[in-house]
Amino acid sequence: MRIKIGIPRALLYYDYFLLWSTFLERLGTEIVLSQKTNKEIVYNGIKSAIEETCLPVKVFLGHVQDLARKKVDYIFIPRYISVEPRRFLCPKFMGLPYMIKHLLPGIPPVLNVEVDLRKRERQLPVEMYRLGKLFTFNPWKIRLAYKLAQENQKSFKKNILQGFLPENVYFNETEKNKALKRTVLKNNQHKNVLRIGLIGHSYNLYDEYVNMNILNKLQEMGVEIITSKMFSEAEINSGLKRLRKDIFWTFGKETIGSAFYLLEERITHGIILIVSFACGPDSIIMDLIDRAYKRAGVPCLTLVLDEHSAEGGVITRLEAFIEMLKWKEQKNESYFSPHGQPVDCPESPF
Ligand code: SF4
Repeated sequence: MRIKIGIPRALLYYDYFLLWSTFLERLGTEIVLSQKTNKEIVYNGIKSAIEETCLPVKVFLGHVQDLARKKVDYIFIPRYISVEPRRFLCPKFMGLPYMIKHLLPGIPPVLNVEVDLRKRERQLPVEMYRLGKLFTFNPWKIRLAYKLAQENQKSFKKNILQGFLPENVYFNETEKNKALKRTVLKNNQHKNVLRIGLIGHSYNLYDEYVNMNILNKLQEMGVEIITSKMFSEAEINSGLKRLRKDIFWTFGKETIGSAFYLLEERITHGIILIVSFACGPDSIIMDLIDRAYKRAGVPCLTLVLDEHSAEGGVITRLEAFIEMLKWKEQKNESYFSPHGQPVDCPESPF
């Protein structure tokens, strides 16, 4: 019987699932995914989390409990410190395996890999070799599994950049969604099509339950979407030129770089910031974006997600935002402020 390894369908699952699943499957293990986020998962996560935790981590706790019920042999929870040189992820990722073990005693053993590419890229193959040795003594098998995992991850990134959604790529269902980025760029000259940038973390953008299916809702309203995960390194760096100081959070760099790139290039009519309640990095990053858009007079809506967010309220705000964008386009208004304060008003602090 093959060893069953549970992978929670939450947090960096939306970025790195293919890397880990390819590697582990090539070593002969069976991957078990938790079910899609639902009411029960969120409820269980909230019950076991400490108060100050952000919603995505609470959701992650719920997914781990779902896997524990599925009687897997291990639960895979990498400890992400850094995924690129000189930058960090949020501290919650660094302590995740320890937090889970502390909050959920009695779950199956946690498989923990440390990802810390801050100083040297060689750290990852070394860690993967250490992980691989748990399942095979054959170093060539581990090497091959690692190579294939890297290749799959590269092709995943390419697909995401074109505008495909992670789960469609993971399960070879790319025909289910059009390449969103390509569509937006192609229609850039069409005046009657509304285009919106969705800015946020992958686990907020792509978890339909957490974001109340915002992608579908916008598409049903006839809006074309581009998400902050669909920008290349060069585009993000070009957006970051507006900043005087470097951002040392990888996800913060992505969100602010993509939002500023959209602002420079005027590809979209406005943006929607998707923020998790109780997220420290977002409280700074999203505020910087909001202020820049306010100054430029480009519409920006902030949706803060938490476990109390009601779908009706989100729909109303989305509809109002879209209506205002349409009105702005029809009237050819250069000034528009969804913040209630005219940007060029003398009392405005911006
Ligand atoms: S970046 Fe924010 S939302 Fe993501 S895990 Fe950290 S605190 Fe939570």
